[in-house]
Amino acid sequence: MPEQKTLIMKFGGTSVGSAEALVSAIQIIRDAKKDWDRVVVVTSAMSGVTNLLLDSAASASHGKVDSLPAAESALREKHFAAADALIKNEKLREQTKAEINALILSLVDLCKAIAVLGEASPRAMDAVASLGERMSVYLLGAVVNDAGIKAKAIVSTEFVVTNAHYQNAHPDFKATTEKTRGLLNPLMDEGIIPITTGFIGATPEGAITTLGRGGSDYSAAIIGAVLPADDVWIWTDVDGVMTTDPRIVPEAVTLPEINYSEIAELAYYGAKVLHPKTIRPVLDAGIGLRICNTFNPSHPGTRLIAGVKSNGKVEGKVIKAVTAIRKQRLITIEGRGMLGVPGVAARAFGAVASTGTSVPLITQASSEQSICFAVPSELAPTVLSSLEKAFAAEIEDDDIDRVWATEDVSIITVVGAGMRHTPGVSGRVFSKLGNDGVNVLAIAQGSSEVSISLVVDAVDTENAVKALHELIVAS
Ligand code: ASP
Ligand code: MG
Repeated sequence: MPEQKTLIMKFGGTSVGSAEALVSAIQIIRDAKKDWDRVVVVTSAMSGVTNLLLDSAASASHGKVDSLPAAESALREKHFAAADALIKNEKLREQTKAEINALILSLVDLCKAIAVLGEASPRAMDAVASLGERMSVYLLGAVVNDAGIKAKAIVSTEFVVTNAHYQNAHPDFKATTEKTRGLLNPLMDEGIIPITTGFIGATPEGAITTLGRGGSDYSAAIIGAVLPADDVWIWTDVDGVMTTDPRIVPEAVTLPEINYSEIAELAYYGAKVLHPKTIRPVLDAGIGLRICNTFNPSHPGTRLIAGVKSNGKVEGKVIKAVTAIRKQRLITIEGRGMLGVPGVAARAFGAVASTGTSVPLITQASSEQSICFAVPSELAPTVLSSLEKAFAAEIEDDDIDRVWATEDVSIITVVGAGMRHTPGVSGRVFSKLGNDGVNVLAIAQGSSEVSISLVVDAVDTENAVKALHELIVAS
């Protein structure tokens, strides 16, 4: 038998978010099956569903269940409208709606239980969050079957085995490999397309876990790595990875190729194209990855490439993309008494971590008289009070003069693996911003030299992105 080629296709929330979107998805699946011997489909929840589920659980944890009937009918309407429009076979349609309805009823039960307890544990939150993908997998499985394509819906809790770190679970690759192959290969041997849930897994004991928000991409990568597949395609609602946000710069274009380190920086710094954890499994397994648009399927999208030629040179332009993360605040801890005192940074970040806040950017001046870092604006007050508590003694003794936060700022990041070998890029970045009248409040360069991040006032966000995007065009 000639070598069988396997393709994983993951459809994001908007790509399965309506009957119209599902029509495109069906066509994409049909076309893929012509070119690939083996195809696995991974689906997200329909767009907006996960948020709705989690909001319902959060209200319930405050004892509020009065919005439940509205959530129930919204979920019914969204899924049933698509089922009614696309499933012609009446028996299949009714059965699918019954499956979805059972999941909606379990949302009601879970929320009522949460309301009684007055608290939603991470485990309960995962049970609730999992319902979105479980609904969409039955819907997608049914519409694909109804369109005459052999497919079987299978919930990934059956084969993605994780630890019990609810809401951010880590897969056990060994156990997952065994189970995934055991369940999916026999289906594919028969020419059946397994259609499975992204985002969710289960502990060895069977408790449902999730891989973190946006984790369906990661699921596709995990399944791709363990089978292993040849290619993973992420179907979304844009033409791949763009040079920047087209809402800021209409001239932004799709990058035909991007390398692994660049996409990792982009995913980290605000370009919501791919869940950051997706990259590692495909990279380790040497699998291809492509990001493409369900609503423009003939567009080639963006391909992930290894990116380094045999001579060590990086392909393509020096600067590839510019991103902006808005609504951040810079927190500064300053005081002459910090000079040379070990452990200040450790205590500072310990205090930040105790609030559950993650820090996207840190800078420290070599004078050691201040430490400065960014946090999301809405968390700044909590972080400040935690720091004030942690350093109460130093503040009292005037070793620390003050701990303060700026108004809203944005982190602008310039990404390009070629920067590593090209001297003078940061010089160009800063003179461009200077010439365009953008004031830079703080700077950080990743030690990988794949990105430079700078912090600007919120009002300067657009100008900074526009200015730096011109450098891409010129480079
Ligand atoms: N539905 C999940 C979320 O909204 C996972 C995903 O879409 O990737 O986070
Ligand atoms: Mg997503």
